[in-house]
Amino acid sequence: ADFKSDQEVRWCPGCGDYVVLNTMQSFLPTLGLRRENIVFVSGIGCSSRFPYYMDTYGFHSIHGRATAIATGLAVERPDLSVWVITGDGDSLSIGGNHLIHLLRRNVNVKVLLFNNRIYGLTKGQYSPTSEVGKRTKSSPAGSVDHPFNPLALALGADATFVGRALDSDKAGLTEVLSAAARHRGSAFVEIYQNCPIFNDGAFDALKDKHASAGRLLRLGAGQPMTFGADERKYAVVGDGPGGLTIADASNVAPDDVVVHQPDHERAGYSYALARLDETFPEVTPVGIFRDVVRPTYDDEVRAQISGQAMSSERLQDVLLGKDSWLVG
Ligand code: SF4
Repeated sequence: ADFKSDQEVRWCPGCGDYVVLNTMQSFLPTLGLRRENIVFVSGIGCSSRFPYYMDTYGFHSIHGRATAIATGLAVERPDLSVWVITGDGDSLSIGGNHLIHLLRRNVNVKVLLFNNRIYGLTKGQYSPTSEVGKRTKSSPAGSVDHPFNPLALALGADATFVGRALDSDKAGLTEVLSAAARHRGSAFVEIYQNCPIFNDGAFDALKDKHASAGRLLRLGAGQPMTFGADERKYAVVGDGPGGLTIADASNVAPDDVVVHQPDHERAGYSYALARLDETFPEVTPVGIFRDVVRPTYDDEVRAQISGQAMSSERLQDVLLGKDSWLVG
């Protein structure tokens, strides 16, 4: 089973959404879940057509409120794997409030934010992630808005899992989505998604092998953080309490290179990683920034109601349909 529905996919030719859909349909069956235990909830926008194309349960809901609807679903039904599909306009503008509360509560929901830095469905207005100076139909003289850094926003809301992937990088995307699926609690994944119609090439510098040589920092748990081509190699080093910066690797002793720890107890570490662009604007880390354990809102609510906490082993059995949360 690949969980493909019989609906005709109606995104524009070349849209980055296709790769994300294809990746999801490839990796989701590997989780061992029954299709009736999977739900995709979306808001409004191009990416929000996603639930139609999955042969699972789905809900194309209302603008910015997918996270609120998914919260209710996750609290009521621990036997479901709940995913939110949203865009930069849907979740960071009208839906910003619901997003940050889902993350701070650590509701067991996976949020995939398709970031194309533009409003696509309404034909090309600047969004909360559009860069300063961007000329669009709604900002003909150039945007004067300071954009959100979605990962820094999620980390500021105390999200327990935060990752970033590129639409064109199927292997990297699969790795982040798989880890998000395994994470118990809120998982927030920003996906850089090309919109060839209204913001074409927004992430080209990261995709072209030569151009990206000095830019892409692939995060690996337990791995020293170095990146770049032979002639331009960089290392991430400490910069005081909780801070990180980038240095020419040839001037850094191997022991001084920071080893990536997504389970680092201090959120400031992941935040510093998400804000590396402050000291080195061109660098883009991709992978898993943060993955820590904290009680989830939905488990806590159910424990409060039933008077007993459920073990994580039993919750896993409930998800796989081997046990019922209603019994006992
Ligand atoms: Fe994709 Fe852009 Fe077309 Fe929307 S407008 S479907 S984001 S290419």
